[in-house]
Amino acid sequence: MTSASYRFHLGVFDILIVKDGTGGQRPLSDLVDHIPQELADRDIFMEGGLMVVDTPDRRFLVDAGNGPNRGPRKYAAEVAFEKEGIPPQSIDTILLTHGDPDHIAGLLSKAGELVYPNAHYVMHIDLWRALSGDPASGLFFSSQAEMVARLTKLIEGRSTLLELEREIWPGVRLVPAPGHRAGHSLFRFDSADEVLFHIGDAAFDPLFLERTDLTISAEYRPQQARDTREAIARRAMAENALIVGSHFHVTNVGRLDTTGEPRHHRWVPQAP
Ligand SMILES: [Zn+2]
Repeated sequence: MTSASYRFHLGVFDILIVKDGTGGQRPLSDLVDHIPQELADRDIFMEGGLMVVDTPDRRFLVDAGNGPNRGPRKYAAEVAFEKEGIPPQSIDTILLTHGDPDHIAGLLSKAGELVYPNAHYVMHIDLWRALSGDPASGLFFSSQAEMVARLTKLIEGRSTLLELEREIWPGVRLVPAPGHRAGHSLFRFDSADEVLFHIGDAAFDPLFLERTDLTISAEYRPQQARDTREAIARRAMAENALIVGSHFHVTNVGRLDTTGEPRHHRWVPQAP
């Protein structure tokens, strides 16, 4: 296993994007039933990962990747963290976008213990309800029931559950971004007039922000997920926000620009 990471500044915050898993190209037809003619040959790129945000007084982690219990992994977060000098004990707060295993399995070690022993957790209350309820209630992965049961037992009592948009810490905000899975949220960071959205799986590839007319039938609530992408695109443009997605290529951080056509936007990558 090796590591892939990308570091940059957002105002006075330090951002580190880390890959955890194995990525690659997939045909758009894997996810979208009705593909417009002009996108017929389009592939999308998907590679899971997580993000560390250092504010002057607190270290945040957005999601936790696959971790050692899910594989095979070409890139491992623990290898990247060792290289970047980030001990797991130093993570203060974990922000969860949703409950799919490629985002939460990495919270547990092979022995089933918490990888980040000092962390407090923040998530949408519907995510907690899904994690602590029946797997069919929005998780879609009944195979992870045992892992989820173990996890919820360990983090109950150290989790903050939010229903509406709210600031968690100065410059750190949970924003509900529903549709992809139960309780799916994005996290908004702002420092010295710079803004970044970590949108989790609201869009697997920037293409889904460029074309918010596309519907992914395998999502929890496909129409809602599609409308959430349009809302994210509009807000990101209004706030001139940088956008990071869980499955984007490690250096593919960008902004959206208008094309003038409804539900069509343009992805403008920020030069790495
Ligand atoms: Zn994912």
